[in-house]
Amino acid sequence: MSTVHSYLSSLSLHIAGEWRGISGRDTLPVINPATGAELGRLPMATERDIDDALAAAQAAFPAWSQASAWERDRILQRAAVLIHERRDAIAHSLTLENGKPLADAQGEIDRVIETITWCAEEGKRAYGRVLPPRSHRLTQTTLKRAIGPVAAFVPWNFPMVLAARKVAAALAAGCTVVLKPAEETPASCIELVRAFLDAGLPPGALSLLFGVPAQVSQRLIASPVIRKISFTGSVAVGRLLATQAAQQLKPATMELGGHAPVVVFDDVDVDKVAAACAAFKFRNAGQVCLSPSRFYVHDSIAERFAQRLAAHAQALQVGDGLTPGVQMGPLNNERRLQAAQALVDDARAAGARVLTGGQRIGTQGFFFQPTVLTQLPASARLLKEEPFCPVAPVMSFATLDEVIALANDSDMGLAAYAFTNRLDRAAEFSERVEAGWIGINSFTPALADAPIAGMKDSGLGMEGGPEGLDAYLHSRFVSQSSLAT
Ligand code: NAD
Repeated sequence: MSTVHSYLSSLSLHIAGEWRGISGRDTLPVINPATGAELGRLPMATERDIDDALAAAQAAFPAWSQASAWERDRILQRAAVLIHERRDAIAHSLTLENGKPLADAQGEIDRVIETITWCAEEGKRAYGRVLPPRSHRLTQTTLKRAIGPVAAFVPWNFPMVLAARKVAAALAAGCTVVLKPAEETPASCIELVRAFLDAGLPPGALSLLFGVPAQVSQRLIASPVIRKISFTGSVAVGRLLATQAAQQLKPATMELGGHAPVVVFDDVDVDKVAAACAAFKFRNAGQVCLSPSRFYVHDSIAERFAQRLAAHAQALQVGDGLTPGVQMGPLNNERRLQAAQALVDDARAAGARVLTGGQRIGTQGFFFQPTVLTQLPASARLLKEEPFCPVAPVMSFATLDEVIALANDSDMGLAAYAFTNRLDRAAEFSERVEAGWIGINSFTPALADAPIAGMKDSGLGMEGGPEGLDAYLHSRFVSQSSLAT
């Protein structure tokens, strides 16, 4: 029997162990993208709120960073258990705010649990090194210590798991965190913070702010309290925040946009590959940084592939993510809807053929048809800009050299995929394509234990895996002599 859930929580900031609501603060509406209806009002942080969060992160840092990794592990593991217990209610709110189908929201929460559990464990393995000493009286070591209070910023497309990737890694490393999620999707981040607090995290070790993004980020990054910036979002905002961080000489991890090419060679089962591509392309309505966004298919099979992809797109059940059987929800907001329409209109005006889709569905909510286009000129904006919508352009190619050049013809280099049964083609592709996340005959969403390291404009540094934890640690060298002189 299924349980009926309502929209979770009064929407609040969390600062220094205290939930702060809308009283005395400006507010923003949180909108259900499936209906356009207001779900609630979100308080916006004042300058005082931001400064209080900074003071709390500073005050909590000494005790939290000096707690043993085993104690931090216990608290993080407890938080993961609490999230598991609250999974269905959180998933319901996540779908209401983000629009994704309920099963996908539940899947996201499962990955939150996996991420926290993995980071908790990995925090116990933040080993340093013992160096061969320069003299027998010397002990020379490197030690890893928490880098300091962290400012973390995340977008709305996977609001809870992207926040968990930063918060869990930073807390496991011994850092305190001020988290600024996207204002479109606050509830699951509020529940993430609540779980950590209920699990015994010291007040102040994790604060949560919403507000005017540019104001909050500027004040946090400029503060001497913050020693590390971690951002997931668009290239444009990433560039802005990386510049602010550089001015302060603060390390910054930037997980930015992607424009993933998918290369389909002529030795595959076209129908099976088209089915796999449709499933991954239209997941979360294409609003995924790792989403395939340019399909290059061998000349001899391109038309058949495009027709099969279009058939899968047409067959998708699009609707409110809470309705059973729905496979694709709305776009998250009005801006994305306008961007999707503008990209399709631009391609169409340049001569592209619309095999299916191409426009908004209805007038309520932010639904856009799953769309497949062919015959795009290289100048089409869709081939240069991250689409972040359910639009799939299909182009053709003749040779391997040609298609690798096409795949690499992008300012971004996050993910890239190839489908082939030939080992030589797979090896050549993996070696020459400019991307940090490569799939051969498979699509893999982000994993707790694997680093994502975007190339070119897609990022700076790494998140996920031991490399992701290292981003919150500072290595210091200690040389100790057994004699005082
Ligand atoms: P966005 O850059 O607009 O917003 C991301 C965060 O930055 C939010 O918290 C937002 O409130 C804040 N923000 C927005 N404008 C700001 C400003 N002027 N100053 C400071 N902060 C600001 O991104 P989005 O459109 O919400 O998210 C989608 C983007 O995120 C896509 O480009 C996607 O590829 C990228 N993304 C990357 C990864 C990755 O791992 N590389 C993962 C998921 C999403």
